[in-house]
Amino acid sequence: MFHKYEIVERQNNALQKLNEIAAISNLDPKETLLQALIVGKEYFGLEFAIVSHIVGENYTVEVQSSPTDTLYDGQLFALGSTYCKTTLEIDDVLAITDVTKSQYVGHPCHKEFALVSYIGAPVRVNSEIYGTINFSSPNGRYLEYDEIDYEFMRLLARWAGSFLERKFALDELYFAKKRFEMIFENNASGIFVVNNSGQIMMANRRFCDIIGYSKDELLGQNTQLIHITQESYETVKEKFSVAHNNLSLKLEYTLKRKDQKYIDCEFFGAPIELEKQSVGIVWSILDITSEKKLQHQLEEQASTDYLTGLFNRRYFTGRLEEEIFRVQRNKNNATALMMLDLDKFKNINDTFGHLAGDEVLKRFTSILKRNLRKTDISGRIGGEEFAVILPDTTIDRAVVLANRIREEVSNHTVKYGREKIIFTVSIGLTVLSYEDSNFDTALARVDNALYSAKMNGRNRVEQK
Ligand code: GH3
Ligand code: MG
Ligand code: MG
Repeated sequence: MFHKYEIVERQNNALQKLNEIAAISNLDPKETLLQALIVGKEYFGLEFAIVSHIVGENYTVEVQSSPTDTLYDGQLFALGSTYCKTTLEIDDVLAITDVTKSQYVGHPCHKEFALVSYIGAPVRVNSEIYGTINFSSPNGRYLEYDEIDYEFMRLLARWAGSFLERKFALDELYFAKKRFEMIFENNASGIFVVNNSGQIMMANRRFCDIIGYSKDELLGQNTQLIHITQESYETVKEKFSVAHNNLSLKLEYTLKRKDQKYIDCEFFGAPIELEKQSVGIVWSILDITSEKKLQHQLEEQASTDYLTGLFNRRYFTGRLEEEIFRVQRNKNNATALMMLDLDKFKNINDTFGHLAGDEVLKRFTSILKRNLRKTDISGRIGGEEFAVILPDTTIDRAVVLANRIREEVSNHTVKYGREKIIFTVSIGLTVLSYEDSNFDTALARVDNALYSAKMNGRNRVEQK
């Protein structure tokens, strides 16, 4: 028989051990539970110790300490064949000193597993029943359970419950962090977070790829590092402060990589708020440099002639239409229109070949261009037919210019292999009128002038 003071000492020892286990935070959670089971097992003097997880009728051994080759973690039992079913029913500590001498005689657990002595209590996690913590033995216990044992059992159950609660909360935090990291790091967009002082606080892998800096080089740096100029930094900072009030912001922007190359980016920004306080902004960016390049190329291809690099007919006539509208709005504005056609060009092709003809077209283009101003708009509107819009040019000045071009052309020799090719150009001139309803009427008039130049002997300038 134990004396009372021995029981108290035993309980004090057990409590102390439990506290020690709880204090060791670096123990694996399962190992911590196991240590608590061992403390309880020794305290009650029973062979089997289990923390169970109960869902419906399924009783799963979560952690156990038992004689070798009897129980294993993850083992599944029917709840009905365990004393724990009764424990959950009474919703408190169930203690059986010797089942054969108790009201539970004939209990399925005795029949099935020959367990004679048992003490167990429900374990709650976040106020919900999670399972039980229980100790049992095939042998009857000579000592009756007393109130102190009941209290210790309740304490163990509460301890296991709050321990599991903390573990699940930490697990959840861990998985939330992992999930976030996975989404952040594997995002197809470059993502970076900037605080209110313009410092880069976070950057994902894609952003590092786009900008050419490593994470270490970026974190803590001011975003000035990746701006092309101080002004551009100020502009974005300005937009940044607007974004705070606007919730989100989309802009196209050029950044500077570590290797000093410029990259065109599409930006999406959203403020980050903590307790209604704006603490920074999260930027998600796409590198659109190649799309921009392609777009530019396509625009250029759509508007230029491949051989001469001048505007093509479609683009030129569009510009001509715009110029006509401009003249209609501002009637005092003198804008001349010039049309140029190489003389007897068919002969050049026939004599020297088509490639030689191409060379002449290119050479003619460079003569034309070096006689024009930046503001003049020139296009190749047919095979060997060109047109130029001359803004702010009177007809008299246009005639002078046309004759200068005509003369330069006629004095020029194109050396092609051993051949020396000379050629001439006929030029028609007109002035855009506010009465021109569209580009067709203006083109028809200047074409008419050109026709006169051809009729009057070629290598001439005529006006209409
Ligand atoms: P005219 O003095 O009356 O203008 O006579 P022309 O021979 O210049 O006029 P025509 O319209 O009879 O012939 C134009 C020639 O220009 C016919 C065509 O083969 C040639 N041509 C058109 N486009 C190209 C081109 O891209 N390259 C070359 N080499 N020749 C071209
Ligand atoms: Mg011709
Ligand atoms: Mg022609």
